[in-house]
Amino acid sequence: MKDVRVRFAPSPTGGLHIGGIRTALYNYLLARQNKGTMILRIEDTDQGRFVPGAEEYIIDSLKWAGIQIDEGQSVGGPYAPYRQSERKEIYKVYAQQLVTDGHAYYAFDTEQDLEAMREKLKSQGADNQQYGITTRMQMRNSLALSETEVSSLMNSGAPYVIRFKVPENVEVKVNDLIRGEVVVNSNQVDDKVLMKSDGMPTYHLANVVDDYLMKISHVIRGEEWLPSAPLHVLLYKYFGWEKEMPQFAHLPLLLKPDGNGKLSKRDADKMGFPIFPRNWTDPKTGELSKGYKESGYLPEALINFLVFLGWNPGTTQEIFSMEELIRTFSIERIGKAGAKFDISKAQWFNQQYLRAKSNEELADYLLTSLSKENIKCSKDMAAKVCGAMKERVTFPQEFWEHGKFFFQAPKEFEQSVISKKWNDDAVKVLAAYRAEVLTLTVFNAEIAKASLEKVTASLNIGTGKILQALRVSITGQGSGPDLMLAMEIIGKEETCSRINYALDTLKPTV
Ligand code: GLU
Repeated sequence: MKDVRVRFAPSPTGGLHIGGIRTALYNYLLARQNKGTMILRIEDTDQGRFVPGAEEYIIDSLKWAGIQIDEGQSVGGPYAPYRQSERKEIYKVYAQQLVTDGHAYYAFDTEQDLEAMREKLKSQGADNQQYGITTRMQMRNSLALSETEVSSLMNSGAPYVIRFKVPENVEVKVNDLIRGEVVVNSNQVDDKVLMKSDGMPTYHLANVVDDYLMKISHVIRGEEWLPSAPLHVLLYKYFGWEKEMPQFAHLPLLLKPDGNGKLSKRDADKMGFPIFPRNWTDPKTGELSKGYKESGYLPEALINFLVFLGWNPGTTQEIFSMEELIRTFSIERIGKAGAKFDISKAQWFNQQYLRAKSNEELADYLLTSLSKENIKCSKDMAAKVCGAMKERVTFPQEFWEHGKFFFQAPKEFEQSVISKKWNDDAVKVLAAYRAEVLTLTVFNAEIAKASLEKVTASLNIGTGKILQALRVSITGQGSGPDLMLAMEIIGKEETCSRINYALDTLKPTV
């Protein structure tokens, strides 16, 4: 088999859509599995859509996601430069070669000419208004104009593009590793512009030339590029590179959660989840879009979530490390059907990855939040808090957000709990319990529980009836982690002082 050389080829037109990370991931897995090469190529030939900062953003996002680039923009390599705008001269030679061989031609049509053609075709009821086999001879190009007209236009410096000359009525076969053989009649393909009037190649020319020159073995990209594949196959043919043509794999679309249409930034914004891997600020509008990273997603969890959007291992295993994915991944197991983007699944993965960490590892997240709040805490204590909270959090920042009460005694109490559960019995038990706890020399979760049971038994009040009242006086809330463990962590003194405060502040309401 040929050396596996794959490329991720984003255009720096803004924040990198999360689907781009999935495309990069699939490429990366194939490269690693085959001891191949993962290449990053920046496709920035569309100067009108260039967004400053986007390239750096892409590079940093891949790094954060754990997708390593072996060759390409940011790391260099034998086929540099890897930024297409710096390869302008290379494409010119190839475009010229196609013209010389009769597979491409010069076109001088202005925007108005093109508009007039479309209008005319529309008024004649034509199905499509493409510049191609049926229309090219009525246009201002080197096929329709005389040689003298063409050279005088050229000499006068008239702007021109180079268009591909699509052959008439041939079956173009695209072998796709996911979709099988896709056959398209060339009459469906239009005479795409290969070289623009500013001397820049279009995506199609640059992409094919670079994939050839960079010895790409597999082109793995989104389904939106499938309609371009027949044109690319024809280009390989006319360049005489058929043997070197990469294998294609067009990945299924990422769909909205309800499966109705492609997932867009707008949908994600509306539904309140990120679309970009990291925070992205649009340099034009200044709009900040929150990223997965800053929302608290762990890169391992995001990768695990993304890999399942289109691929499945054929088993029930769900948790996969990058190493396991490298071993298990296969293009054959990528489906054709669009993948529904279910953010709750991403959250589930995040929970799984958080739970799998040791309390000591998790403590670092909490310590980071605490230092922002200027709260001092030992690593040991932070680890204990995280241990108690672990099963209840989805994101690292929640150790602090939901666990503030470990560090700050509640000053307010959840009203709905108070109105239902704070009654004479609760007050009686809590006062007795506080007195009991004060006598203890050793205090931990087990002893806290045994003492509570002793007190409730002696007062003949069910423990279950007053537990919420105790919880609310310790934490301020009606739900939270194991209460006995929480009391052990804050300690005997603090437990008593909180019960005291609650008894002083709250009056029985029932
Ligand atoms: N530059 C294209 C993009 O932005 C790459 C498509 C391809 O991989 O061929 O998605």
